[in-house]
Amino acid sequence: MPTPTVVQVVVDKPLAQGFDYLWDQQNLGQEPMIGQVVEIPFGRSSLIGVVIKVSGHSDFDINKLKQVKAVAPLPPLDSAALRLMNFASQYYIHGLGETIVPTIPQMWKKPEDWEKIPKKLIAAEKKKEKKDREIKSEGLIAESQLNNEQESALNALRNIAVEKKFRAILLQGQTGSGKTAVFLNWLSSILQDEKAQVLILVPEINLTPQLERRVRAYFPNKNMAVLHSAIPENQRGVAWYEAMTGKAQIILGTRLAALTPMPNLKAIVVDEEHDPSYKQQDGIRYSARDLAIWRAHDVKAPILLSSATPSLETWMAAKAGRYEYIRLDQRAQGASLPNVHLINTRDPQNQFSPGDVGRPEGKSPISKHLFHAISKNLENKKQSLVLINRRGYAPVLSCNACTWMSKCQQCSSYMVMHKAGALSRKSVLSCHHCGLVKPIPEHCPDCGNADLRALGQGTQKIEDSIEELWPKARVLRIDTDSSKKSKGAEELFQEIHAGNVDLVVGTQMIAKGHDYQNIGLVAVLDADSRLFSQDFRAPERLFAQLVQVAGRAGRSGTEGQAGGDIFIETQYPEAAVFQYLLRHDVDGFLSYTANERDEAKLPPFSYQGLVHAEGKSLEKAIQYLGALKGRLRSKNLIGHGLKVYDPVPKAVMRVAGTERAQLVIESGNRKQLQEILELIDQDLRSHSQGRISKGENIRWLIERDPISI
Ligand SMILES: [Zn+2]
Ligand SMILES: [Zn+2]
Repeated sequence: MPTPTVVQVVVDKPLAQGFDYLWDQQNLGQEPMIGQVVEIPFGRSSLIGVVIKVSGHSDFDINKLKQVKAVAPLPPLDSAALRLMNFASQYYIHGLGETIVPTIPQMWKKPEDWEKIPKKLIAAEKKKEKKDREIKSEGLIAESQLNNEQESALNALRNIAVEKKFRAILLQGQTGSGKTAVFLNWLSSILQDEKAQVLILVPEINLTPQLERRVRAYFPNKNMAVLHSAIPENQRGVAWYEAMTGKAQIILGTRLAALTPMPNLKAIVVDEEHDPSYKQQDGIRYSARDLAIWRAHDVKAPILLSSATPSLETWMAAKAGRYEYIRLDQRAQGASLPNVHLINTRDPQNQFSPGDVGRPEGKSPISKHLFHAISKNLENKKQSLVLINRRGYAPVLSCNACTWMSKCQQCSSYMVMHKAGALSRKSVLSCHHCGLVKPIPEHCPDCGNADLRALGQGTQKIEDSIEELWPKARVLRIDTDSSKKSKGAEELFQEIHAGNVDLVVGTQMIAKGHDYQNIGLVAVLDADSRLFSQDFRAPERLFAQLVQVAGRAGRSGTEGQAGGDIFIETQYPEAAVFQYLLRHDVDGFLSYTANERDEAKLPPFSYQGLVHAEGKSLEKAIQYLGALKGRLRSKNLIGHGLKVYDPVPKAVMRVAGTERAQLVIESGNRKQLQEILELIDQDLRSHSQGRISKGENIRWLIERDPISI
């Protein structure tokens, strides 16, 4: 009897190991290969898995092994992709199967459809060709059109990024300095190799259409695959297939694209590398930027990290010479930087007083100072952007007679008031954490008082105030509510480009990356709410966002023209974030932040891990983490450079009825942290089913390098 072939298969379950199956070559019609996507019987049903090992024996009784049922009509995942998955699984303390399988698009995980796939691919191809013809291309800046600074950046890049060598390069440049033109021209030299593949990562789905048009302009004859979560399932399945078979040369996408197999990967660009949306916040909590750097290193390719406000980690690596450092310090078209104005809202002179012309009826969220500036900008026929980082009408509804506030019954947060028409036909209260929607009570549920007040403000309330202050202006609101409705975000942005709008109110969605042509003024209304936070990264994020949003002003300016204005309403104009912004001093701010972190021994001067625990009661979740800490202490693992904090409730403690707690673990040594997290994983697994503890029913998860604490 010939030796049977045994394959080890991993599946999307929180398990540390894979399972052995028999491979019947005659029945399956092909040889087994590592990286194949297969259908296997599992319990009473069947699952999709990936082959990670092929051998002639099993540690289990061969006669009891089941057979692989079917093989997906796909080439196996290539060895570099599998190395990446292996690394991600180990580094982020996540099962290999639950790391790989979720990265495979749904289309390839439905065995009942596998037979139809060749037909589907042909149909999709035709559709794509048609769509590709329809995509407008825009924004080509050929090499000959680059300014001197861009040209020398491009030359430096070409000299550094030589073939078959890993290099991490920080391209730091002002907003509007033309970083995109530099890296697209660089990629064009790499793409002269017919087979080469390049990966371009962007932080937000909303930024892909504009960049897609730009990339199209540079590479009209290259095959591009666009990957992000908002793409229809089949389209994504085809794009992923084209990337993993080498058919697409340009892969443009959000963080999930970082894990897409690309057998001929030759260069990576991470645009806006500092952006927190590169961090996955559920399942395997990876950083797409960090994985991209590992990946470039693994396949010996250059990686370009681009930003106006680099993350502290990247900036320090460039400063220390671990990364190459290229800078663009001028705005590309010679326009000057926006003028930064801090409006001290505590100063009565900046506020409306009775008798002022144009004064609104109630208390105005827009100060008098800002009112005059926007009015002047309107007179100059320029557009204004007003940024408030909270959607809805008001963050909380409260009773004027008693202490009632619109608390969510399922979460430890308030329900946000939304005006009629936004989420439903009537005004509603909505919880932004669990999604619960309720009608607005007519009377206070506690005391019956009819005088309920909306406290604070969101985008809708600001929209109302603006319509009252400038009744003739054309106002557009852009937030996730308005962009989900009839028109997509892209269409709303087109309204701005077309000049159909005078005033735009929106959340940070409007701040990122878009090249607006006629914005003369940007106003930020709620900067203070993000100034004080338990998260030590909050000021860094606020600073990056303010630089971004300031960069929207006056981008179209030509030589010598004023660069537009940014107005920030704050009670704390002396705060470091604002003072460095006032001087456009990105490096000064980063250096200041580095000193602060160094003194407190916070990342990047130390490394952190987080153990999340959630269950029906907060007390039990805290106890569970406390017991874990106790076990670590009794094994004498705490100290010696390892710090384990006390378990605490999370910032939003209760979500959808689940109580949540966390334990922070910190070390000055990466390896020590890694070892302890692996140990914790084993410890917790030993009394758990998957990641749910037996007995207490606590769901736990380990996170490496958390970015919000
Ligand atoms: Zn009341
Ligand atoms: Zn809720």
